[in-house]
Amino acid sequence: MLKLPEDRTETHFDDYKKAYTDNQAAVEANRCLYCVDAPCIKACPTSINIPEFIRKIATGNVKGSAKTIFESNILGMSCARVCPVEVLCVGDCVYNEMGVPPIEIGKLQRYSTDTAYEEGWEYFEAGPDTGHSVAVVGGGPAGLAAAHELRRYGHAVTIFEAGDILGGLNTTGVAPYKMKADASVAEVQWILNIGGIDVKTNTTVGKDIGWEELDQKFDAVFVGIGIGPDKTLDTPGEDLDGVIGAVDWIAQMKLGTYDMSGIEHAVVVGGGNTAMDCLRELCGLDVPHVTMVYRGDEDRMSGYDHEWDAAKKLGARPEWLSLPLEYQGSGKVESVRCQRLDSDRKPIAGDEFTLQADLVLLGVGQTKLGEQLEPLGVEVEWGRLLVDHHGGLNRKGWFAGGDASNGAKEVVNAAAEGKLAARSIHNYLSAATTAPGDL
Ligand SMILES: Cc1cc2nc3c(=O)[nH]c(=O)nc-3n(C[C@H](O)[C@H](O)[C@H](O)COP(=O)(O)OP(=O)(O)OC[C@H]3O[C@@H](n4cnc5c(N)ncnc54)[C@H](O)[C@@H]3O)c2cc1C
Ligand code: SF4
Repeated sequence: MLKLPEDRTETHFDDYKKAYTDNQAAVEANRCLYCVDAPCIKACPTSINIPEFIRKIATGNVKGSAKTIFESNILGMSCARVCPVEVLCVGDCVYNEMGVPPIEIGKLQRYSTDTAYEEGWEYFEAGPDTGHSVAVVGGGPAGLAAAHELRRYGHAVTIFEAGDILGGLNTTGVAPYKMKADASVAEVQWILNIGGIDVKTNTTVGKDIGWEELDQKFDAVFVGIGIGPDKTLDTPGEDLDGVIGAVDWIAQMKLGTYDMSGIEHAVVVGGGNTAMDCLRELCGLDVPHVTMVYRGDEDRMSGYDHEWDAAKKLGARPEWLSLPLEYQGSGKVESVRCQRLDSDRKPIAGDEFTLQADLVLLGVGQTKLGEQLEPLGVEVEWGRLLVDHHGGLNRKGWFAGGDASNGAKEVVNAAAEGKLAARSIHNYLSAATTAPGDL
């Protein structure tokens, strides 16, 4: 697997949520009411028993606390850092209704899981060999969660990963002030420590090995290919230097160095969460003028409110109801000519403005990858793989999860869906080897 260089641009960032000390964790854990029927558990896609892990911290059983987390979510370390807890577990803490600050569940989860990593605690071992083999396509959170769970059942697992590093967008995409690539890589290693997971990086299924070949070589297949590269808007000038897809730019900044010298004016096109991350990252990299150009308005933006509030505080400036018409410059981008829109998002004739720009990031969404499975008869809707409630595709022995099937949610959803599909694969393989008389 790729070794990360030390001097990555992302190392400029500190964690925006600081780790707890032992005392801080104990104090926060003791604030928890340990609700019966706790709403936070229901709000967590991996259903971690949150009151239980917090009670274990309060009673000094940190090892047991981390076990409670990992039993439900093997990516509990990264989720503690990257989950949008404001709209998940923390958002549903009963304290919110009492006007009391909610329990910092993510920070407590980080305390437990970081301690487990630091202490080298291992909790899981592979089950006895079942003789079955499963191909996992994609080494992101969904694929990793599926692979780990499959090994616990004793199935042989091979991960095929197109890139040279595992972890998917958890390694290459999440904002460095939440988690840096080396933490994700450490998590990958921790997951692989269960043993028996064969990893084939730089291997794209559909190119280096055919999709149909997987049927011949494996007893079941899990597809966790995520979503594809940044979309573009076919705006004139998109090929100028300095106009780059947002996810592409983030990956370059996280895995290596992106030369930010001389960048005074940056423009981010889009108003989703990737655009929000870019705004915060550019401000954090000390770009003096950071502007968002978004075709919607503040009330209808798709990015989380808390992310936009944070971007605003750092100095990002919006141009609502606006569209780029042309990126201008000779060889390298120098400015963006924009069109103002009315509240129905229709162009207002003659209402144009120009923004200075040395860097333009296109955060207007990513392509979907599901269509490549259509020739296999797999049902696909708008590029998204259609799965049933068990993560099953409409092809015998094939399952899917994560962004490829949920249309792009969060790491914690991918972890939940990878695990669910692994359980379904186990049931499928067990049924396949159970003689009718044994049932
Ligand atoms: C910029 C950005 C920031 C984000 N920030 C957050 C955040 O703060 N918190 C959060 O919870 N979520 C965040 N997300 C979303 C989160 O990263 C994803 O939901 C999650 O990574 C999905 O996991 P996955 O395994 O389904 O897909 P991915 O992480 O995309 O992994 C899929 C893997 O499959 C590989 N692959 C694709 N095609 C093939 C093929 N044919 N053969 C072999 N391998 C293949 C890819 O190379 C990739 O490694 C962010 C996403 C982006 C884009
Ligand atoms: S995994 Fe995420 S949503 Fe679930 S409890 Fe932990 S921080 Fe909250």
